[in-house]
Amino acid sequence: MHDPQPMALPFFLKNKKTKWAWRCHIDTTTPSAQARDFAEEFLPLYDKTIFSMDTFAKGMNCEKNSVVIYPSIDPFSEKNKNLTDEQITAVICSYGLDLSKPILLQVSCFDPWKDPIGVIDVYRSVKEKFSDVQLVLIGSMATDDPEGWEFYERTLRHAGEDEALFVLTNFDGVGSVEVNAFQRSATVVMQKSLREGFGLTVSEALWERKAVVGGNVGGIRVQIKDGENGYLINSNEEAVERIEELLLNNDKRVKFGEEGYENVEKKFLTTRHALDYLKLFKRLV
Ligand code: UDP
Repeated sequence: MHDPQPMALPFFLKNKKTKWAWRCHIDTTTPSAQARDFAEEFLPLYDKTIFSMDTFAKGMNCEKNSVVIYPSIDPFSEKNKNLTDEQITAVICSYGLDLSKPILLQVSCFDPWKDPIGVIDVYRSVKEKFSDVQLVLIGSMATDDPEGWEFYERTLRHAGEDEALFVLTNFDGVGSVEVNAFQRSATVVMQKSLREGFGLTVSEALWERKAVVGGNVGGIRVQIKDGENGYLINSNEEAVERIEELLLNNDKRVKFGEEGYENVEKKFLTTRHALDYLKLFKRLV
């Protein structure tokens, strides 16, 4: 079972022989007491619970029964497969960006924890020194998420009239291949989260050999080794400083990209994930 929505199912399907595992994809370190109490009614029905970080299960009634399995990306999916330069150029130019100028990118849903407002503030500070820099914020909109729409509109208001600032969604035709192309075209990828379950966007960007500046939170911390394959930041000011440093230093961006790619290859691909699941299922049965 994945995430909270279907977690009560074992309660209704009481087959004694069935083994159940619950896979939690969110950061549960500081839960609302009401939500946690409700979830804890069902957690004892599970033989194992799986979290993305060991700190996430702390204090929950499933803590003793929990394991850590990192999520993963599929290198052959539309989102991550190799694209030719022509394919990348076609996508980026169709949205009006200039590939000869630096591109900052964040791919995230419009959610306060992903801090798109902070990303825009960081971009504006960077633009004081690098006047040709462009910012792309990409987020997919779920029709059943009213908060997402509100925050998207707030982001648009904050973005204002700047023609080098692009706020794009699936309603602008940005699907998996377009996300892939934007990630591959970026000079620096940001994931300025204030809280983060894991941050697959970071794995994706590292897999595409990009230098990433990420919030020092959640799963971003296991993917970015600060100063080796990217930078972890704790404030807007730190983000500005690191992005400026990377914009000036092509060699460092290339080095970070290579290190990041190797880290993802070892730890965050579907092959490793499948093996972890097989080991877990073997133990369960
Ligand atoms: N994503 C996408 N289009 C968007 C925004 C996000 O395809 O407009 C994808 C992104 O590439 C990643 C996933 O959604 O694969 C987000 O996963 P992540 O773990 O980074 O964050 P979550 O939204 O699950 O907290």
